[in-house]
Amino acid sequence: MRKIYEHIEYSRVGHFQAILEDAGIQTLVKNLGASGGAGEIPFTEVFPELWVADDADYERALELLTHYEPPDTETLTDWQCPGCGEDVEKEFGECWNCGATRPGFGEN
Ligand SMILES: [Zn+2]
Repeated sequence: MRKIYEHIEYSRVGHFQAILEDAGIQTLVKNLGASGGAGEIPFTEVFPELWVADDADYERALELLTHYEPPDTETLTDWQCPGCGEDVEKEFGECWNCGATRPGFGEN
């Protein structure tokens, strides 16, 4: 078993775990929930850690995480529907009013 990643934010560790699990790599997370503690444990000791269960999967797991790029949600902005002119919040990929797809959304 080898540790492959650690990060102060559990959400990121959990996201990477999901990526590896999707690829059929068995993982586990250590220090889960430690960040919710009352601060009695030294800060640097409680980062959530992502471990690969089988050493044989480690290289492949590293490859997956190295080439992973998070969705660039920071650049999304509210948009105006080309179909009905409604203002739609950035979280939505479709117009809530008429169902039109966000311009440029979902294209590769
Ligand atoms: Zn619309």
